[in-house]
Formats: sequence, structure tokens, C-alpha cells
Amino acid sequence: MRYIEPHAHMVSRTTDDYISLVTTGCKAVCEPAFWAGYDRSSAAGFYDYFRQLTEYEPRRAAQFGLPHFCWLCINPKEAEDLTLAEEVISLIPKFLDHNTVLGIGEIGLNKNSRNEMIILEKHVDFAAKHNQLILVHTPHLEDKLKGTKLIVDLIKSDSRIDPGRVLIDHVEEHTVKMVLEAGFWGGMTLYPESKCTSPRAIDILENYGSERLWMNSACDWGVSIPLAVPYAAQEMRRRGYNDETIDDIFYKNPFRFLHQCPKFKI
Ligand SMILES: [Zn+2]
Repeated sequence: MRYIEPHAHMVSRTTDDYISLVTTGCKAVCEPAFWAGYDRSSAAGFYDYFRQLTEYEPRRAAQFGLPHFCWLCINPKEAEDLTLAEEVISLIPKFLDHNTVLGIGEIGLNKNSRNEMIILEKHVDFAAKHNQLILVHTPHLEDKLKGTKLIVDLIKSDSRIDPGRVLIDHVEEHTVKMVLEAGFWGGMTLYPESKCTSPRAIDILENYGSERLWMNSACDWGVSIPLAVPYAAQEMRRRGYNDETIDDIFYKNPFRFLHQCPKFKI
């Protein structure tokens, strides 16, 4: 099979993971900017991270023949500090023309706080002004439903944003409908302990249609499975889906969304 891993934090993974991805048919990996497992002490920490995402990590992936793309922003967790967040956003234009930067993400909400909302709005405004694709993180567990509603309402209220150019990630059974009905794309994250398992993700596809959904591993420094995407494909085979449908879901869907950024060439 061939597939695209549309959401993986490769800076915290090993070269073995790169080998596993390419040997299972991965054709491109996309890395949103996110929390590093610790809070950075200054905007300079983000400047270095953006260099890692745009310079070093694509070179590391290229050693294994894997195209690496990224998204830039300050993640919602660290966006609680408004001064820091504004400084970090002001660094983004320096990196925006880089040939592997796909857009602004993963922005969104963590605890649904007032400050997070202020910075989410600033990111959306930035994306509108610079005509960028948007990738959105939704909160965990008990904060997810409320946070997803806040995000959907905020982005929908900005008439400059085409919802077909926004992907709202980490959707689950109780949030997928509102995301798709508003015209956005949805991402399902295949985690062993939280978010979606493969069977749940495929149930969601069967219930809500597969046209604007993708699956990702969101593998990072925590408990996560870099091969969760091909494992989900295996679960689809077990349920009797043919190769063509599997190719639609795991390759053509992410390609269709990502290719709206002309820099996404594989
Ligand atoms: Zn992520």
C-alpha cells in the first residue's frame, strides 16, 4: 500500500521510525508545530524549533527517501502566555516562504481559556492574510466537545476562510458531525489509549462518510504508535475493504487536502 502520514511529530522519534514508515509505504510525512513536552523559556526557543522543522528534520527524513513537510504556529498550551505567543507569531513570516511549509498549525485550544481563544483568533487572522491552509488541534477528553464548538464557531465567523482549507484534528464520535457539517475536513488520531482506536475510526468513516476525513498517528514523545496508519489500513482489509478504497482513504484523501498548498508535491 501507499499512504501519507499527515500528522507526526518526528523531531521526537528515532531513525528506526523513519525506516518503519518508508518500508510500510509512507510517501510523505507532515509535522505540525506543537508542544515539545516542556515549555520553552522564550521566543528564541521557537525560532530554533522552526529551524529544526524547516531545515534539519527534512534533511533527516530525506536520508530515508521520505519527503517531510511542516506547519508553523505556537501551540495552544504555550499560547496561554500572550506576550510570548505574539512574539512567536511575529517570527513565522521569516519561515513562511520555505518550500516545505504547508500552513498554520496545529493551532487550536487546550483548556479552552480566554487567552487561548485570543491567540487562536490571531492565528486565523494571520492565515487569512497570508492565504495559508489551517490545521487545528482540539482539546482532550472532557474539554473536547466545548472546545471543538468554540473552534468551529470562531473559524466559521471569519468570512475570509474557506472551510475546505481547514482541517480540524483529533475528532471523535461526538465532534465529527459538527466539523463535517460546517464544511471542514476532520482528522482522526489513532492512539492506543485515548482519542481513536482503528476500529472506532473506521466505524466513524462508515457512519459519516469518508470524503473529508483522514487518519494520522500523531506520534510524538508520549505513548503513540508511528505505524498506526498502516495498522488501521489492515483493520479495513479485515473488514473486507478493497485496495482501491484503502488507497482513497490513506493516500488520496490527505493528498487532496494537502495539495491545496501548491508546495505539497510528492
Ligand atoms: Zn500533534
